[in-house]
Amino acid sequence: MRMKRVAAVAAAATLALGLAACGGDDADEGTGSGSKSFAAGSTMEKLNKAQKIKVGTKFDQPGFGQKGLSGKPEGFDVEVAKLIVKELGIPADKIEYVETPSKVREDAIVNGTVDLVAATYTINDKRKERIAFAGPYYEAGQNILVKKDDTTITGPDSFKDGTKKVCSVTGSTPAEEIKKSIKDVGTQLVLFDTYPKCRDALKGGQVDAVTTDNVILLGYIAEDEASFKLAGDNFTKEPYGIGVKKEDTDFRNFINDTLEKAFNDGSWKKAWDDTAGKFGAELGTAPTINRY
Ligand code: GLU
Repeated sequence: MRMKRVAAVAAAATLALGLAACGGDDADEGTGSGSKSFAAGSTMEKLNKAQKIKVGTKFDQPGFGQKGLSGKPEGFDVEVAKLIVKELGIPADKIEYVETPSKVREDAIVNGTVDLVAATYTINDKRKERIAFAGPYYEAGQNILVKKDDTTITGPDSFKDGTKKVCSVTGSTPAEEIKKSIKDVGTQLVLFDTYPKCRDALKGGQVDAVTTDNVILLGYIAEDEASFKLAGDNFTKEPYGIGVKKEDTDFRNFINDTLEKAFNDGSWKKAWDDTAGKFGAELGTAPTINRY
């Protein structure tokens, strides 16, 4: 019985593949590997031939990458990833989304668990020791989330007296940055693997604040305006890049070309307006791509 069912599924899959190959004459839909051509041996060619790609993103950050009713993550990072995938000639429904919380992103790229990461991923030199970044495609800044009625926390200096607890995420740049303003890291800094755990700890009163990029915090405010607000101004610059394998300069260049095209043809702005742009953050002018 079991063998028969497997055989039937395999036959159906072969038929479906055959039909897809016949319809592969529309370059925009990228339905067939023949609709785009890339340098032999390149990552672009490999992905295009396979007609599938693994994208690492967040699953719990509203406006950037959050799983909704569709069962797939939605947000600005996801839309930017889709622009790259489209340019590879791969249909969006062939994307396999892999959840990549902050601390696993470099490993996921190095180990090949994902082909690229688009996940509120700040470009910095430490990370560049293990992976490479295309971009930036957006510039966020670190900020602090507090309860709406809090008047005691106004910026990072508010942690200097040693009394307030602040939550952030392991492996994130804000978790490192806030240490500079904390009197006693051991008692004042609470670390989780994802931001919703910090948000819930703030709401429940276990911590006094959450710190990460303004746009992530704005997403949580949009979901619960009665409970939260930002405590002050941004105090860092967090340029977001697309993470790829360190040695894969051709793929990085391809993504940089794709981002520049999207900056100019309106698709980058549309991606923003449809997603995080609804939460009150500014898109600003297109960043200058850093082709290092
Ligand atoms: N952009 C920061 C980072 O890459 C914070 C956001 C995050 O943890 O994803 O670490």
